[in-house]
Amino acid sequence: MTLIENSKKSLIQTYKKYPIEIVKGNASYVWDSKGKKYLDLYGGHAVSIIGHCPKVVLNAINKQMHSLLFYSNIFYTKPATLLAEKLAETLYPEKYQVYFANSGSEANETAIKIVRRYTGKNHIVSFNNSFHGRSMTSLAVTGINSYQQFSPNHNLYTTFAALGSIESVELAINKNTAAVICEPIQSIAGLKMAKKSFYKKLEALCKKKKILLIFDEVQTGLGRTGNFWFSKSLGINPDVITTAKGLASGLPISAVLLKEKISKTIKAGEHASTFGGGPVVCSAALATISSILKKGFLQDVKDKSKYIKSKLLELPNVTELSGEGLLLGVHFKKPIPNLVKKCLNNGLIIGSSCDPFTIRLMPSLSINKKDIDLFLKIFNSILN
Ligand code: PLP
Repeated sequence: MTLIENSKKSLIQTYKKYPIEIVKGNASYVWDSKGKKYLDLYGGHAVSIIGHCPKVVLNAINKQMHSLLFYSNIFYTKPATLLAEKLAETLYPEKYQVYFANSGSEANETAIKIVRRYTGKNHIVSFNNSFHGRSMTSLAVTGINSYQQFSPNHNLYTTFAALGSIESVELAINKNTAAVICEPIQSIAGLKMAKKSFYKKLEALCKKKKILLIFDEVQTGLGRTGNFWFSKSLGINPDVITTAKGLASGLPISAVLLKEKISKTIKAGEHASTFGGGPVVCSAALATISSILKKGFLQDVKDKSKYIKSKLLELPNVTELSGEGLLLGVHFKKPIPNLVKKCLNNGLIIGSSCDPFTIRLMPSLSINKKDIDLFLKIFNSILN
């Protein structure tokens, strides 16, 4: 039996997989078990944020794992403290404290638990087409119908508003509303976003109504949009920010950043996680974000985004681009059947979305010009 057959036999089939076994990665490339090389514009689902197997991260993991692989949160470890300090610094002068979890869903789950605990209220306003994860509470605030197969009673404590319509948010708020949760660029939905002025109005409305604002920056955070935080680039300071994906370049970690007015009210024992903030994963994250925070790195992301956008608009059947930085949606005049598969056949990985007219690009932020040009060449020839 082949590995793929064995895998189908032993693994629960929750994923629709392509029949390819990935064995190696380096920078913007991965290789399959047959030795075929793929240019990765999907970035391992936006996780390989500074490329596959970045040396700085491998070195940091290697160094840490030889002194301490793991200890739980009953003791102090240096990497978690340094990482929390570094993340909080990125939001200066606002004061935040950090909690580490293991996935985007868990970060959002934690955020909702904390806003409910802080406000003493249960109701959450979320947005149509948003995605916040697959655990029960993060699913309950996810606004894409096809994810609601397990009926997590999302109507009980969630009201969905339309992203971009402040009136619909106002209508959705009630006396029991604890917070609004917002995925500011709705990635899986097809890179849908509101006008930038909307997010400022959203922050002002939350302040006026005395409810909290959670920004789900699981995808938009950590430099993905050409800014370390998308919220900061919009000029807003959400009460809670969640992030995950590329934080440790592929090791599982997520973070919840809370304004100190909230975090300082939390007592020991009210929340915890065995693996959250472990020393190896935090060392990997420190190396990752130190690279992103290097002088000129984010400007370079912006420049590459501008270049790639200008070239994509010249391609056949492309009607529009959306997103920011290197989180991009390419919209077509009509759905192109099997586009992802055709790209794979040609050694290129791109991402699909829930919108059949839209594909997603979320490459490594370190992708170089030569690889961008190669992507444009392959993509152009497929579209032609
Ligand atoms: N929030 C957003 C915006 C996401 O894109 C995702 C995952 O794609 C999640 C939450 C859930 O993250 P995870 O799959 O790590 O639980």
